[in-house]
Amino acid sequence: MRKRMLINGEWIEGSEYKPLYSPFSGEKIADIPVANLAEIEAALQAADCAKKIMAKLTAHERSTILENLVKELKEHKTECARLISLESAKPMKAAIVEVDRTIMTYTFAAEEARRMYGETIPMDAAPGGENRIAFTKREPIGVIAAITPFNFPMNLVAHKIGPAIASGNCVVLKPASQTPLSALFLGELLVKAGLPNGAVNIITGSGSTIGDALITDSRVKAVTFTGSPEVGKAIKEKAGLRKVTLELGSNSALIVDHGVNVEEIIPRAVTGSFSFSGQVCISLQRIYVHQNIFDEFVEKFLNEVKKLNLGDPFNESTDVSSLISKKDVERTKLWVNEAIENGAVLACGGTERKHNILEPTVLLHVSNEEKVSCQEVFAPVVLINKISSLSEGIKYVNQSQFGLQAGVYTNDLSKALMVADELEVGGVMINDIPTFRVDHMPYGGVKESGTGREGIKYAIEEMTEMKLICIKK
Ligand code: NAP
Repeated sequence: MRKRMLINGEWIEGSEYKPLYSPFSGEKIADIPVANLAEIEAALQAADCAKKIMAKLTAHERSTILENLVKELKEHKTECARLISLESAKPMKAAIVEVDRTIMTYTFAAEEARRMYGETIPMDAAPGGENRIAFTKREPIGVIAAITPFNFPMNLVAHKIGPAIASGNCVVLKPASQTPLSALFLGELLVKAGLPNGAVNIITGSGSTIGDALITDSRVKAVTFTGSPEVGKAIKEKAGLRKVTLELGSNSALIVDHGVNVEEIIPRAVTGSFSFSGQVCISLQRIYVHQNIFDEFVEKFLNEVKKLNLGDPFNESTDVSSLISKKDVERTKLWVNEAIENGAVLACGGTERKHNILEPTVLLHVSNEEKVSCQEVFAPVVLINKISSLSEGIKYVNQSQFGLQAGVYTNDLSKALMVADELEVGGVMINDIPTFRVDHMPYGGVKESGTGREGIKYAIEEMTEMKLICIKK
């Protein structure tokens, strides 16, 4: 199946192609165009030409396009989920959840399109400001370069395309090389939804070869990137004065106080650790449990892990399937073995099965210096360590280069609020796992987890410029 790129509302053949393989079966599933400089230029030019048209659309016109898209997505829900599963080996039940969330993301975008407003400023608050009325409005920034990762190939694209359309911007999107199919399918639905030609252009190819041409082009006024910290940092360095939103990685942690209902926490914690084989930016990687309930927690956690089904992502009972690449399986095994050699206890997993599937792995008593603790594992590996107090848990959570989200379970509200104050992260989940996200909440990190926020309303702030208009009476 030879795919085409969406440029200026037309489906364009590539001059060069690369095969795309299923991460589960290893079979070839498509041929994907590799954009060359001329094709990148065409996409940028199309976006630049369409920016005036997009900026002139009324709020209700932008909203209607997004509402039409939502209708299309609802009609093609199973097809979308199957594409996600095919290209990423995401188990079907998780892929369906992703499509449902994508629908919510565009629904929120359709709503936010209608309520983009500024504020009035009391100019006479300053001497010399008398007899003036001022107000602000938000204007689209123009052309945005959007680069997305493999792990939520539809919903993380939605977090860029949704707010961009809602706020009257144009986009050149480059999806991850492993997961272009769902992004290209979205392009088909966008065309059906009535989006003006050139407003969203989708080009494919390797980020390391075509990324720079997008990021450094003078027509691009903002770069929105979701992906690894390494690439994010490089983008920031090259982006100059452009606005840059970076949604990067993490080694998310959970603190569990004594006195809580362990039974209730366990299924959430297991889901947070092993959903999509841990390839989630807020995957639960580190659990710090109070010593009074440590043994009970570990025993119940391991019993719950045993219930997970491993296998074919298209099998509806599968919970854990292939990692995205063989390289990631090898890297993870190396990190797990290193931790064990240095004294960590392997409580379960650690073994590779057929099809690049790594068994859900639980490590106990892991030192903070181990890679499985201080780096982002991005694989089905979680560590459970004992703590003697919440303060000790906070110390460990904060001893990280990352700071995306963290969770704390405690029955004591004062303690919960103290923990929330102390944690150095973008979001704190009290009585829930750090893996919790709904698509309208402000979402983003501190430290090496990134800069800027997504969640439609907040992404629109990143994608627009504030203009002040002052009237002298
Ligand atoms: P990645 O390797 O950084 O790739 C992300 C995107 O960047 C891909 O489209 C990739 O293209 C492109 N890219 C690679 N090198 C580039 C360069 N030099 N210039 C411009 N673009 C370049 O990340 P991934 O493996 O797909 O995703 C996993 C990472 O994303 C994890 O760290 C995870 O935590 C993070 N993530 C963060 C969030 C969040 O919201 N904070 C959400 C999801 C994932 P190719 O595919 O062609 O290499």
